[in-house]
Amino acid sequence: MMLNIDNIHTKSIKQSNRSKILNLVYKNRDITKQEIAKVLNLSIPTVISNVNLLIEEGILEESGVAASTGGRKPVIVRLVKDSKYSFGVDISPDETRIILTNLYAEIKADVAFNHLGLKNINDIMGRVEVKINDILDKHKIPKESILGIGFSLPGIVNEELLYLENAPNIGIKDVNFSVFQKRLGIKIYIENDGNTAALAESVIGIAKSKSNLVYLQITEGIGAGIVINGHLYRGQNKKAGEIGHMRISDEGLICNCGRTGCWELYASEKALLRIYNDRADSKVQDLEGLFEKYFESDKLAKDSVNRYLDHLVIGIQNIILAFAPEYVIIGGKISCYEDVLLEPLTKRVLQESIFLDRYNTQIIFSRLKQNASILGSALLPLKELFK
Ligand SMILES: [Zn+2]
Repeated sequence: MMLNIDNIHTKSIKQSNRSKILNLVYKNRDITKQEIAKVLNLSIPTVISNVNLLIEEGILEESGVAASTGGRKPVIVRLVKDSKYSFGVDISPDETRIILTNLYAEIKADVAFNHLGLKNINDIMGRVEVKINDILDKHKIPKESILGIGFSLPGIVNEELLYLENAPNIGIKDVNFSVFQKRLGIKIYIENDGNTAALAESVIGIAKSKSNLVYLQITEGIGAGIVINGHLYRGQNKKAGEIGHMRISDEGLICNCGRTGCWELYASEKALLRIYNDRADSKVQDLEGLFEKYFESDKLAKDSVNRYLDHLVIGIQNIILAFAPEYVIIGGKISCYEDVLLEPLTKRVLQESIFLDRYNTQIIFSRLKQNASILGSALLPLKELFK
């Protein structure tokens, strides 16, 4: 019994030294074994044995020598960025997108398929499996080099049980992803899309140094990833962040959730298109179409964007009052129109209220744009490696 516990204990120390070393090399790109020992406060033999194991696994390599400070020249090590890969899968209302990334989250493959004709999640997952195998074949990557597949899902997700409780905007509920994990033979990770986007912005995006932020995933609906003191806040039963269903109006529009007046009915991408199309003679299909009109100084388009902002402002102000974040990050396709939206949004959310002005919250637009949530999903397996 004692022996077992000891074994586990020794193993977990080794594991954490390995992850600490990997993390440091990841951040520094090139670093000597001596520097690793110094920064992590580890003995040189500990560093050497861990680094040797990682070199054997092909994750690290020696990349030269640094100038000597007396004695032998210190050996520099670095990550072999194409030694391991990760898949990210984003299931949105009309399409499923799949990316392959390396250890530095660089996108190596990017495919999508329209799934409107497909009836259920089994059909979608069947297509995902085919696409993943195609990518592996095309890039000649063995399955063993894949750390995992991360899924970004617009709904309530239990990431520990691999269970999607409900995703009303894609009409899917009660899905157990461990079934697919068995079928694919690759470890699966799942997460809510607002959370994956927030993760991506914190790890590789605009918010690297920020520990309090709210990421707004503005698409068909509005989801949110809430980061408090550097940790994703999930709430009881993982239900936090359903900010799109916060009630901001007493008008009678009925939401997917069964209630009325939900924020996403007024401030989602879909809402902006509806605001315009309700009054337009020639309808627009998407944001590109709407903003094309906007840039032609179409009065209705300008007016619609303005009315849309009225609603967006109310929700963001509520979020600032509740969380006092350093950043509110606007994500989704709407973030491509930063040039048009940022200034009036900031002005109306913060500057028109002396009270809110004092919160020092900054409104920023996602740097990763529509890639935020899918990159975040590909980071889920990587996170496991560096944990
Ligand atoms: Zn609702």
